Amino acid sequence: MLSGYIPEFRTRFRATIMGIIMGLLNERIQMMPRKELDELQLKLLKAQARRLYELSPFYRERMKAKNVTPEDIRTLDDSAKLPFMTKKDLRDFYPDKLFTVPRREIIRYHASSGTTGKPTIVGYTRKDIDMWAESLGRSLTSVGLGEDDVIQVANTYGLFTGGLGFHYAAERIGAAVVPASTGNTERQIQMIQDLGVTAYAATPSYMMYVGEVAEKMGIDLKQSTLKTGLLGAEPWSDKMRDRIQSQYGIRGINCFGASELSGPLFTECSEQTGIHFWKDVALVEIIDPETHEKLGPGESGEMVITMLQKEAFPIIRYRIGDITMLEEDTCSCGRAHPRITRITGRVDDMLIIRGINVFPSQVEHCLNTNPEVGNEFQILVERKGHLDEMLVKVELKPEAFTDNILELNALRERITSKLRNSLNVGAKVELVPPGSLPRYEGKAKRVKDTREI
Ligand code: ADP
Ligand code: ZN
Repeated sequence: MLSGYIPEFRTRFRATIMGIIMGLLNERIQMMPRKELDELQLKLLKAQARRLYELSPFYRERMKAKNVTPEDIRTLDDSAKLPFMTKKDLRDFYPDKLFTVPRREIIRYHASSGTTGKPTIVGYTRKDIDMWAESLGRSLTSVGLGEDDVIQVANTYGLFTGGLGFHYAAERIGAAVVPASTGNTERQIQMIQDLGVTAYAATPSYMMYVGEVAEKMGIDLKQSTLKTGLLGAEPWSDKMRDRIQSQYGIRGINCFGASELSGPLFTECSEQTGIHFWKDVALVEIIDPETHEKLGPGESGEMVITMLQKEAFPIIRYRIGDITMLEEDTCSCGRAHPRITRITGRVDDMLIIRGINVFPSQVEHCLNTNPEVGNEFQILVERKGHLDEMLVKVELKPEAFTDNILELNALRERITSKLRNSLNVGAKVELVPPGSLPRYEGKAKRVKDTREI
């Protein structure tokens, strides 16, 4: 009998020791002082530049065209000498012509959602999958999640990286995972209750929808075990976060990733003051999208990302198109890893209305300052004659929707004038009943632009 206990004891002992070691390593890298982090990042940047120069005809040619060799990378600022990559490169070399490992080293494929055109394919080696889980897992521990948590993953499982990304990260930190994927919302809410789910990973639009359905079912999420929303994959505003936090009694943690980079990789810490980018995983720069000059901390521009340890599909100075700012000072949580502030939009989702730049996130922010406004809106853009016309359909909250035309007209006038002031261009506003606009399980698609280019 005893002989049966000994191997089991050994296995448990080994697992406990491994858990302790991994925990210590995790803690060490998260809290590493700035100087050490910079040294580590420079070492990884040099190694990646050298690896690509030697292995990849694509990168070697690009580097030669810029007259740069791996030896020219001596400081972190020298990253600016490296060539950019764009989404067009990924599409031109579809599906796997930029991969730098043989097929037999690839253990998984994913694809982007294709928000801005043809999806791109990403391949992963075993180490790539491991680093991805490590990066997001670290982020989850930075918001205090761990073995005591039950994390329900309501991001789509499949080619989209959201589902499996959160799944692996949650398992890595020892949490219990509920692999719900999207859809079947009532059942999702049932699971939250039955399994005592403490954290819910989804797009912010889906989180709001889950809240609406819960209300209809007569369930108050505030009274549930749910405490944390791991929300991202699409632009959302602080106002929307305020709404989610106050209506559903959860903290809304902003999470960031993109399939080209691996998938969801980084989140805010418990301080909720920007998304930490682990310095040994990625190097972030912000550039002026017109001049390509590097911008300093606190200046808004296009984010450029270099993945420092990716093997199968390396990404160097990738112009991802997201607009944000960088914060380099040590966070109040004590971590010296840089943060990006909320992403205000993508260079390519900017609408030009009568010559004025308009981001859908500006519209969302402005609408959310009105207490009568409900959870969804839609922007329709068309060209009438030579003029751009923008119509914003706005859902109202049930308590604000009334039959009193005079009251509705006054509210519409108020929202129209607020929008004009915040966007610097006029938009028509139509107030629509609660629940009448489309809901989204994954990323929201709130803009319909029917203008011919
Ligand atoms: P696609 O580019 O086809 O949408 P992905 O599914 O990989 O491909 O999505 C990545 C993009 O999603 C990012 O480049 C960014 O624009 C957006 N995104 C991801 N997380 C956030 C977030 N927290 N806030 C705003 N946008 C985000
Ligand atoms: Zn922090």
